[in-house]
Amino acid sequence: MDNNTKNKYETIIGLEVHVELNTKSKMFCKCSAQYFGALPNTHTCPVCLGLPGALPYINKDAIEDCIKIGLALNCVPATDPLFERKNYFYPDLAKGFQTSQLRWPQSVNGWLEVEDDKGEKSIIRINRAHMEEDTGKLTHTNGESLIDYNRSSVPLVEIVTEADFRDSSQIRDYAKKLQQIFRYLGVSNADMERGDMRLEANISIRRLDESAGDRDENGYLDPKYFAPYRVELKNINSFRFMVAAVEYEIKRQTEFYEEGREDELKQETRGWNEEKRETYLQRSKENANDYRYFPEPDLPVMQIGVELVDRLTSELLELPMQKIVRYMAELSIPEASAKYLAESKEMAAFYDEAVAYGKTKDVSAKDVANAIINGKLDLIDADAKQIVDDLIAKKASVVSDDSVIEKFAQEAILENPDMVASYKAGKVAVLQALIGQVMRKTQGKAEAGKTKEILEKLLI
Ligand SMILES: [Zn+2]
Repeated sequence: MDNNTKNKYETIIGLEVHVELNTKSKMFCKCSAQYFGALPNTHTCPVCLGLPGALPYINKDAIEDCIKIGLALNCVPATDPLFERKNYFYPDLAKGFQTSQLRWPQSVNGWLEVEDDKGEKSIIRINRAHMEEDTGKLTHTNGESLIDYNRSSVPLVEIVTEADFRDSSQIRDYAKKLQQIFRYLGVSNADMERGDMRLEANISIRRLDESAGDRDENGYLDPKYFAPYRVELKNINSFRFMVAAVEYEIKRQTEFYEEGREDELKQETRGWNEEKRETYLQRSKENANDYRYFPEPDLPVMQIGVELVDRLTSELLELPMQKIVRYMAELSIPEASAKYLAESKEMAAFYDEAVAYGKTKDVSAKDVANAIINGKLDLIDADAKQIVDDLIAKKASVVSDDSVIEKFAQEAILENPDMVASYKAGKVAVLQALIGQVMRKTQGKAEAGKTKEILEKLLI
C-alpha cells in the first residue's frame, strides 16, 4: 500500500484473547483440568457432561487467577461478579449453554501499552477480563465426527480490548506481552499451538475524515464512526498467522474502498489459509446471534472482598514491564538489553540474583547484563554466582596497571635495539612486534590498547 492510500483510510481492530488456566481442576466440578494427552472422555463427570440435575460449584483458584490477570492488565476488579448462561446449540457444548459472564464480569476498564514496529508506543484500552468455561473438542475424521469432553468446562479467561489497534505490529506486541504476563503470573502455559491461548480479531476499514470531530479528548475514535461491518478472524493458532491474516484483510478491504465497492463489505467470519496465504470465508453473519443471556440460577453471586484483592495484588510480584523500567532507570541498562533480560520469569530471576551477588563483589549490573547477553546462556545449567565469579576472574587476568605494563615495555625496548632503531627511522609497523614482546612477557594478559599507548610514549 502506498502512502497516499494509507493516508486515506483508517484501520480499526479489536482483539479477543482466550487463555486456558492451568488450575488442577475444572471450572465447576472436581474433574482434573490437566487433560493434555489423556484418553478421550476420561476427565468427565455429570457436571461437565451437562447431565440433568448435576449442580456446579465455583473453582476458587480459577477466580483468583482471573482477578490476578485483570490486576496485571490494570483492570478494576468487580466486587460482586455473576455468572450467566450463554445459550446456543453446538455438539461440543454439552449443556446447551456456556457458563460465562456478560453484564457482571470479573474485571473491567484496564489498559496495556503496546509498541509498533517503528517503536511508537500507544495505550490499548482493555474493556474486560471475564471468567468462563471451555467447550469440548470435535474431531472430524474419515467422514465421522468424534467428540472429546475432556476439555469441557476447563477454566477460560477472555480478555476483550476496545477497537484501539491500528496495525498488525501492535497486535504482535500485545499478544506477546499478554503471553509473557500469563507466564510470569504462572496462570497458564499460554502455548498457542496447544490451544492454551487463542486470538480472535475483528477488523474493519473506514475512510479518514479529519473534519468529522470523531475522537474524544484522548484521541480514541468514537464507535459511532466505525464502519458498518466487521470481519472477524477466528481459529488462527499462531501469532505469525494472525499478523499475516490481519495484513491480508487490510489489503483486501482497502481494495473494496479503492474500487468504490465498500458497500459490498459484509459482517462475516474468516479463517486463514496458510498455503494460499489468504483469508477465506467461514460464515457470513447477517444477523447477530441471540444468546438469550440470563443469570445462572445454580451459582451464587460472588463477593470479592478488599482483603482478597489486596492479597492477590501483593502476589503479583514484579511484571515484565515493571522489570524493564527498573532495569533501565535504576541499573542504567539500555532498553533492548532490559527487554531481553525480562523476556521470561526465569531469565529475569537469574539476572536479579546475579546482580545482587555482583553488588557484594563490586561488579556492576551493566557488566553482568553484558555477560549474560553475550554468553547466550543455557539457564538450566547456568549458575548466577558463577557468571559474576567468571567476570571477576577475567578482569583479574587482564593487566591494565600502567606501571606494570611500563616495566615490561621498558624491558622490551632495551632487549630489541634494532626494532627501536627501525621504528625511529619511520617503520611504524615495527610497533606491532614490540607489542608482541610485551604480550609474551605478560603471558598475553597485558591490555593491548594500553600497551600500544605506553610503547608510543616511551619511543618518542
Ligand atoms: Zn467434571
